[in-house]
Amino acid sequence: MSSSLKNTVLILTLAVLLPVAIFSAVEVASLNENEQMLEQVYREQLDGIIFSVNQYAADLFDFYIQQIDYQYQQEGFSSLSDPGAIKGNLAIEFIALSTPAIQTIDFNEQTELGSFNIDSAFSANELLIERLIRYKETDYIKQEVIGEIRNTNENIQISLIIIGKDTPCLVFIDPVAYIEDLLAPKIQQITTQAINTNVRDTITNRIVYQSKVEPTGIIQSGPLNKTPGYEINVSLYAQSVTDLISYRTKRNLITLSIVVFIILAGMVLIIRNLRKEIQLNKTKADFVANVSHEIRTPLALISMFNETLLMGRVKEDKKYEYYEIISKETSRLKNIVNKILSFSQIDANKKAYNFSKVSPDEIIKDVVNSYSYHLSEKGFTYDLNLNGNIEINADHEAFSEVLINLIDNAMKYSKEEKHIVLESKSDQTHYILDVSDKGVGIDKKNQKNIFDKFFRVEGGNVHNTKGTGLGLSLVAEIMKAHNAEISVESTLGEGSQFTLKFPII
Ligand code: ADP
Repeated sequence: MSSSLKNTVLILTLAVLLPVAIFSAVEVASLNENEQMLEQVYREQLDGIIFSVNQYAADLFDFYIQQIDYQYQQEGFSSLSDPGAIKGNLAIEFIALSTPAIQTIDFNEQTELGSFNIDSAFSANELLIERLIRYKETDYIKQEVIGEIRNTNENIQISLIIIGKDTPCLVFIDPVAYIEDLLAPKIQQITTQAINTNVRDTITNRIVYQSKVEPTGIIQSGPLNKTPGYEINVSLYAQSVTDLISYRTKRNLITLSIVVFIILAGMVLIIRNLRKEIQLNKTKADFVANVSHEIRTPLALISMFNETLLMGRVKEDKKYEYYEIISKETSRLKNIVNKILSFSQIDANKKAYNFSKVSPDEIIKDVVNSYSYHLSEKGFTYDLNLNGNIEINADHEAFSEVLINLIDNAMKYSKEEKHIVLESKSDQTHYILDVSDKGVGIDKKNQKNIFDKFFRVEGGNVHNTKGTGLGLSLVAEIMKAHNAEISVESTLGEGSQFTLKFPII
């Protein structure tokens, strides 16, 4: 890679890839932050739900306590046992009053109090009773859980309240019934379909209530205020949080990868184009140097021999030789100029072809004939095996130009073994001509480039051979205009074979 290309690649990498890399890194890092933020938002939302459930639980509890208080004040303690006195509250199992004597109502008729002693429950809580009375004086019935009865299949929580003016009362509540029958409908109402809930007994770990699906993923938990020892857990549907986050993460990473891939592909294309551009500039510069050299040599010879002749001191027998050199160099000059003209015409799409039916074998014979002196003078032998025997639609001039270029090259690029073979044949569809030499050959990696404008194989023997790099590109263009194909088979050091394939009309 040339140093300017290296610099460009470096600049491109810094200017494009670095910001993309930084952006990607920031984006990946912020994904985590966003997820944490999202989780925080969800948790706050879930906290709100727990708060609402607790708020409702408190209201419900207050409602039943007020009902007890009202009924007691209106119709006396025993009326509390009337059916429907504590409307709808199936969770109240038992009530005990201390004044004047201990009175109880067993709603369940078989509530097992076990070792719980009602008397000592009142006497042990005198301070609390005083405090609750003070609350009652301000018309607020405060409830305080003072104990619980647990046996294998039952759990009863006992709350102390003040009813009437200052009558302490124990309310025995089955928290499971309270949660299942009274709280659950409200929980369902508050927690919409997208939320999973359950309530757990934190002592036994038993789930006493659960929505259709158990909470999973990000779960928020909190105590159920009116029933100590029970905990409510809420979560959004598993898919809603975890899947949402992972879907979002995946989508962002895929988008990012696509962007990075496009940028990389773009960079590869830019670098490729730059490389081509740099290569073209180099070949153009080489071309100018080559052409100047190609023109300068015959011009120098022509002017030198011309001046010598003009001085009139040349012997008669030498004169012919000088004229011959001048004529040979002039035709070399003419060839170069023609090649350049032809090339510029083709390059500007201005080359006009004069198609007609021609016999390619005949043209080959003519061209080789006119070249035979030149060939033998340079020490070349040749074989002509012309079995094409067919007419094709071609421009006579252009066809000759193709031949001349190939023969010229075969001569230029042959060193020790100077032998050229021209062999033609035809099948049903094509006229095929092979031009082979036993010259320096072309290595594989250069074979695909030799038909490009200005391209010349660098280094080795070829380096010293004069040329413009236009010949084969002209040939390729002419072949294209004839709807014909050209290909090459060559082995370095052994020789080359160019094959022309013309369609038969
Ligand atoms: P030029 O001969 O003026 O350099 P061409 O376009 O005719 O330009 O050829 C391009 C290159 O292909 C040459 O520089 C040479 O390296 C290689 N080449 C062409 N013909 C032959 C051949 N017969 N044998 C070996 N190399 C060849």
